[in-house]
Amino acid sequence: MQFSAFMPKIEFGDGKIGQIAAIAREYGRKALLAVDPYLVESGLAEDIRAKLKRGSIEAIINSDIQPNPDCYAVDRAGEIARQEKCDLVIGVGGGSAIDYGKAVAVVATNPGESWRYTRRTDHEVLVPSGKTLPVIAVPTTAGTGSEATTYAVLNNSRLHEKSTIISALILPRISIVDPGLMVSMPPQLTAYTGIDALAQAIESFINLGANPFNRMLALEAIRLIAEHLPMAVANGQNRTARAKMAWASTLAGAAIGFVATTLPHSMGQAVGGYKNAPHGATLTACLVKVLEFSWVADPGLFSEISEALEPETRSLSVRARAEMCPRLVERLVADTGTKVSFGDFGLTEADIDRVTEIAFTGYGADINLHPRKATVEDVKRLYRACL
Ligand code: NAD
Repeated sequence: MQFSAFMPKIEFGDGKIGQIAAIAREYGRKALLAVDPYLVESGLAEDIRAKLKRGSIEAIINSDIQPNPDCYAVDRAGEIARQEKCDLVIGVGGGSAIDYGKAVAVVATNPGESWRYTRRTDHEVLVPSGKTLPVIAVPTTAGTGSEATTYAVLNNSRLHEKSTIISALILPRISIVDPGLMVSMPPQLTAYTGIDALAQAIESFINLGANPFNRMLALEAIRLIAEHLPMAVANGQNRTARAKMAWASTLAGAAIGFVATTLPHSMGQAVGGYKNAPHGATLTACLVKVLEFSWVADPGLFSEISEALEPETRSLSVRARAEMCPRLVERLVADTGTKVSFGDFGLTEADIDRVTEIAFTGYGADINLHPRKATVEDVKRLYRACL
């Protein structure tokens, strides 16, 4: 066995946000505070700014952030961070705000536009230099695990495509994972983001590049999500369920951080950019169908996922357990009360050729890591099944 392993630095627990100034002081004195607009309205952004100020850290609030963050907004914020001479970026919000912050950390100190740094097959990819600003992440959703990854996913609003900056330099120096910041998520957002975390855990577990460390993280995330996601959806004030989901999301993020995602994320990201659909919803729309397509490729692996989802399947044969995997995920999605398809975001038969092309251009490397080889025709068929 040969592999690399590390766990990102995490401060976890209810109320940890109170320590933000002490934590941030190690990394800078003037921060660009990239905050989800919802948190500006709720007052949390101002509260964090005041906490930082008491700790002698100046913060410039920037909330020009939409779900599926726009690369052109990132470029504008990079200019602000450069002019203000910020030496640190703090991203507070869902995956969109954190990824926006990570990308700002790149463009504030490196030449060229943020899109040029995304990993794609149709342009020469710029590589961030060591000058990239340090990033601190504070997630307020339990889904993307961006607090523990080297990825920043951007949307190009002119191309209607999403792509990802991948660099160890944007792995947050430290993340403050405070489940108390997640209780305000409404049920549907809780469900979508939770299924995103499940998809990431599963995709990192079945990934052709998986290793024993990331599989260990992924299996624990799957167990936690199966047990606690329905409770977090049913009662958002359930602090135990919120904490378990926050930890599962961070574990799933760390798990994909080593090996990337596979086919479900490639398909979901393509629709996310093309139709500006919520990320977690796109995964909810395709995960079960992709699992139906995939389990035959490696029944042993999929049987382990089934066992993590439902320990009572242990007595079944490996093949029977593996075959149940899509049904168990379908049941979990149903338990969250969500039902969504790509058609709900306006995707039609006429779009299938284009989204398939986007999936291969922006996320072809992930498709190649999927355990069952997926051809262009397979992906088109899967899109059709998820309409
Ligand atoms: P999001 O950040 O797009 O936010 C979705 C909505 O939730 C927004 O309207 C936001 O205002 C609201 N919101 C956020 N926190 C809230 C709270 N506590 N209470 C109430 N509302 C709240 O959602 P997301 O699913 O966390 O992030 C999706 C983005 O992350 C996508 O762009 C996706 O591609 C990306 N992503 C990144 C990684 C990574 O490793 N970097 C991994 C997977 C996905």
